[in-house]
Amino acid sequence: MRATYSRAPVVAVILLAGILASFPVRGEEPKVVKPIYNTFSDEEEMAMGRNAAAEVEKKYPILQDVILETYLDHIGQKVAQASRRPQLVYRFKLVDTLAVNAFSLPGGYVYVHRGLLEFAETEDELVGVLAHEVGHIVAYHSMNDVARRWLVSRVMHEGKKAGWLDDQQIQDALQQYGGALLLFVDRKFSREEENEADLLGLYNTERAGWDPNGLIAFLGHVGQFDTTSDLMQIFLRRHPLPGDRVDMLRVELKQRPPSPGLTKDSFLFKAAKARVRMLPPPPAPSP
Ligand SMILES: [Zn+2]
Repeated sequence: MRATYSRAPVVAVILLAGILASFPVRGEEPKVVKPIYNTFSDEEEMAMGRNAAAEVEKKYPILQDVILETYLDHIGQKVAQASRRPQLVYRFKLVDTLAVNAFSLPGGYVYVHRGLLEFAETEDELVGVLAHEVGHIVAYHSMNDVARRWLVSRVMHEGKKAGWLDDQQIQDALQQYGGALLLFVDRKFSREEENEADLLGLYNTERAGWDPNGLIAFLGHVGQFDTTSDLMQIFLRRHPLPGDRVDMLRVELKQRPPSPGLTKDSFLFKAAKARVRMLPPPPAPSP
């Protein structure tokens, strides 16, 4: 029982260390440190991603078109291989809705809504968004959340054994898990996590050979778009204000200007845009 009570300060120190480690030094790529409370292996994370992906793909219509699938995989794998966790098996899929949005699951699953492909004006914009989502995976954002919940539930179970929590309190806490949709897809990342994903994405984009100004351009278009539009609501709800993100990224690029000769656009991107316009409309309204 004594050991149970002594865990609280240890957990607090571990969580604080994780938060402090997430603040990057400007002008340098953030160094991702896996917190010690996240004891899940890459294999366990990929298994969790696989299960979550099955749940997600029951809810969302996945666009099956060999040309678009091949194109998205072609650029996505380049981003993934230039990321700081290239050992994961990455999968990039298109969701057949008009929402301007993208999201990722632990273990290497990245989903881009068709509306985002239609909205992006140049290839480096699309790559910037993919690299941001890969950044969330690289920095273990969702997995750290899972690990924290798992730790809390373990402590709570021990608390019940010690007699200072009742069944209802434990039940209430565990309900927060709620499956993949609640844990990963509808989850709003913290401001620090979003900044970290933006910065990791910026450096990853450049290493993969594209202009990191693409994400800035994309966010600029989002900021100018009708922000009350249903198509933009999920993106805006789940991310910090586009203008704030642009400011932060501009400061970063001023301190560390990108190399010359990076790719901005491509014929393949134009072809993918033309292809998506030829497809029948999505099967269901945007979620
Ligand atoms: Zn994000």
